[in-house]
Amino acid sequence: MTENPFFTPSPLVYQLPPYAEIRQEHYLPAYERGMAEQLAEIAAITDTHSIPTFENTLVALERSGQLLSRVDAVFRNQSSSDTTELLDEVEATVSPLLAAHHDAIHLDQKLFARIEALYEARAGLELDPESLRLLERRYTAFVRSGARLGAAEQARLRELNAELAALGTTFQQNVNAATRAAALVVDSAEELAGLSEGAIAGAAENAKVLGRGGAYVLSLKSTSGQPELAQLSDRSVRERLLAASLARGGEANGPLAIRMAGLRAERAALLGFPSHAAYVVADETAGTVEAVSGLLTRLVEPAVANARREAAELAEVAAADGIEEIAAHDWAYYSEKVRQASYQVDAAALRPYFELERVLKDGVFFAAKLAYGLSFTERPELTAHHPDARVFEVFEEDGGSLGLFIGDFHARASKRGGAWMDELVGQSGLTGLRPVVLNNLNIPRPAPGEPALLSWDEVRTLFHEFGHALHGLFSDVTYPLFAGTAVPRDFVEFPSQVNEMWMVRPEVLANYARHHETGEPLPAELVERMTAAEGFGQGFRTVEYLAATLLDWAWHTLPQGHEVADAGEFEERALAEAGIAFPAIPPRYRTPYFQHIFSSGYSAGYYAYIWSEVLDADTVRWFETNGKSVRDSGELFRRELLARGNSSDPLESFRAVVGRAPETGPLLERRGLA
Ligand SMILES: [Zn+2]
Repeated sequence: MTENPFFTPSPLVYQLPPYAEIRQEHYLPAYERGMAEQLAEIAAITDTHSIPTFENTLVALERSGQLLSRVDAVFRNQSSSDTTELLDEVEATVSPLLAAHHDAIHLDQKLFARIEALYEARAGLELDPESLRLLERRYTAFVRSGARLGAAEQARLRELNAELAALGTTFQQNVNAATRAAALVVDSAEELAGLSEGAIAGAAENAKVLGRGGAYVLSLKSTSGQPELAQLSDRSVRERLLAASLARGGEANGPLAIRMAGLRAERAALLGFPSHAAYVVADETAGTVEAVSGLLTRLVEPAVANARREAAELAEVAAADGIEEIAAHDWAYYSEKVRQASYQVDAAALRPYFELERVLKDGVFFAAKLAYGLSFTERPELTAHHPDARVFEVFEEDGGSLGLFIGDFHARASKRGGAWMDELVGQSGLTGLRPVVLNNLNIPRPAPGEPALLSWDEVRTLFHEFGHALHGLFSDVTYPLFAGTAVPRDFVEFPSQVNEMWMVRPEVLANYARHHETGEPLPAELVERMTAAEGFGQGFRTVEYLAATLLDWAWHTLPQGHEVADAGEFEERALAEAGIAFPAIPPRYRTPYFQHIFSSGYSAGYYAYIWSEVLDADTVRWFETNGKSVRDSGELFRRELLARGNSSDPLESFRAVVGRAPETGPLLERRGLA
């Protein structure tokens, strides 16, 4: 292997990764060389006999590790979006190496001594605000990574980090395997009664792909609830589907979760915190465990009360089918019935108005034009990470180029569940790089020759993920550390949630929601009824989310040394103690497949979604009531908030847009909790 395409910067526009050249075998050697290169770059910083300066220490550190950044950005997406056995192996090999690499830098005493000296002298350095923030953030990151601990404690810390990294990868790979294995197989189309013809054909097609030709396979989504539960009229099939979903991964991942929570508590104690949650939130906008617990506790009671009201409505309809008590596998099905009866909304009737291509171009892109003046040109000659993925060049209102956006919208067996954004190239004035961002979704592939018709939730997801993409595209910072979405975790969902508002803005909706065959616009009263019906589902949505959040919180507020015997029992007790146990509404994720908190960096961070939603609801109200044009509001939001990334304090960016600190009123109202 003479030519590893990661070894040199990509020659392509925007340094788009040279996917046509990249082979699976390139990743591991590129990681190894990337880490070695960065350590050499850091040795060059610390070996110098010159006195530390901002330039020769902090800026040099920011410039280091570019090969590692290149390969890591590509690999992280690839191993999630189109994985193979070999990539799974590479991931398992690399994640402990990366954890050790992180420690090698952050526990480097010579490097820390230089940063500390500069930090102590910061008042006299005459740094510009972003540079000063870089110094402060780096110093904090070193201290939080254990730079001030003694040698024995640092050695233990390295062990903990290595084991946690390895366990996180195993956890994720177990979830993937368990989710595939738990797919529901039925022998006859009759058992799938209630699903659309297209969905039944899709299940038959899916079976063929999975080598079960002649049968029908419903593959599972990552969440507890499965979309088909809303339509399947055979109660026993619903029961089997949900049971398969809820039981996923328990045997393998229950013990892993216990071990990981224990190791995290031990690490927090080493670093001087009473729990992992306390350690995590100290560096988030929330600040303290009490602040988070306070918000969650305030929401539980009204949310449960809402869910009870919804349950009573469902029970009335279900009684006609001889069902005495609504079970978890009945909830979505009768919700749909209530929606149809009380709001005359049929979710399936909406789909023909939400054709993927139109939603993307006439909805998502159109909204970005209204608010920010952007335009998009597809660049089919540019190769992305998978043949399904499409590359668009993004242009400013004045015609200047901004970056690349890659959309990979369809589900496939090699892609993990859910939807997410990745940055393949992060913007930075220092490196001169411009952004290449990517959205992954899991929209089921339509039968051959059929259009992809989206559900209401899939449309929302498309707008949501594009909000993250904009955050990356608009990044206008000097230092790579601050680029785009590199904000605190409990802030990062805020811009993406705000972008969801465009989905139902009348001028946007009218532009994209058109019948795929007749071109007829989605009737306005249907939208009104759908929006009203959304209010109806808030009890369910809030409870399932809060249950998952409080479960995360229970695992990660454990003090060091607390023994958990069984993950399932722990989960049950945690939900009961938090007052959120509601048998008909399982948590959005149960412990054994809660990837956010055991493998993707959201440990003690799942609260972030509702924490961000406070800012989101408040900002949406600001957009609606500030008296400015949509374009002017968009420009202000972009300049003061999206463009800043983490280069200034995120809550100050919020204040710069809205003019005051965030208020919870709009969120409580939106969720029917006021
Ligand atoms: Zn998001």
